[in-house]
Amino acid sequence: MRHILILGGTTEGRALAAALTPELTAALAPELTAELAPTAQRITSSLAGRTAQPRLPAGEVRIGGFGGPEGLADWLRAERVDAVVDATHPFAAGISQNAALAAAATGTPLLVLRRPGFTRVDGDHWLPVPSLAAAAAELLPRRGERVLLTIGRQGVAAFAHLDGVHFVSRSVDPPEPPLPPSFEVLLDRGPFTVQGEEALLRERDIDVLVTKDSGGAATAAKLTAARGLGLPVIIVQRPPVPDGVPVVPDVEGAVRWLERLG
Ligand code: NAP
Repeated sequence: MRHILILGGTTEGRALAAALTPELTAALAPELTAELAPTAQRITSSLAGRTAQPRLPAGEVRIGGFGGPEGLADWLRAERVDAVVDATHPFAAGISQNAALAAAATGTPLLVLRRPGFTRVDGDHWLPVPSLAAAAAELLPRRGERVLLTIGRQGVAAFAHLDGVHFVSRSVDPPEPPLPPSFEVLLDRGPFTVQGEEALLRERDIDVLVTKDSGGAATAAKLTAARGLGLPVIIVQRPPVPDGVPVVPDVEGAVRWLERLG
């Protein structure tokens, strides 16, 4: 039986696990049923273990780091993995690099499933930056003094030295210290609505949004809301995908890639 490892922690990772699990495919992705039905396969999803209450994917799940690229390579050999789909978050550059090294070391086919970034439209006032440090150093507090920060739990330390700026930070789990002196936390998980995001921006008197180009429908509403209110958005650009690794933008692309592997 062929064994597929999905490096997950994302909506796409869960959707792929569901699409490859025959009993769920018919219900969730009927258009793929005919292609997938004949293949019996073992699906393992891997999560880093960062989120206290993760949404668990279908199929087998393992949680925790592998111990660098060598540890992942050992795991691929020991578990006789036939293919790896790296469906991790676009900003999880470390595990993507490890996957590329481990796949090369073991000769395991590797695909990156990466959702497209957010799409800029007329009326957006985006200020792209290469890193969180650049967002803090170059743009705050010049661009605003009341910030909605939606960068996830990690990386808030880049803003810790900024006084004179009030941060409203939203993440699934509490952010890691050090934190800025004027800082409040909203624990929440998408999907979010444009109406809800507008209300949040107004209620908290936000004058700039700081976020990452994560992409995905679940969190795009804040950008629409910022556009509607004429607010600038400081947006951190994505790290590159490791050289030479094929990339697809959606679950269907990943399913077709796996089909072609046979
Ligand atoms: P990272 O910096 O790329 O990875 C750091 C280390 O965490 C890796 O070297 C690996 O440890 C372990 N790791 C990461 N993803 C793993 C996975 N799926 N399975 C097993 N081990 C994993 O990752 P991160 O930015 O901390 O993100 C951690 C996880 O959260 C990712 O799986 C990602 O999909 C998810 N996530 C991240 C973000 C974000 O903004 N970065 C947002 C939403 C979800 P070892 O070296 O010991 O193997």
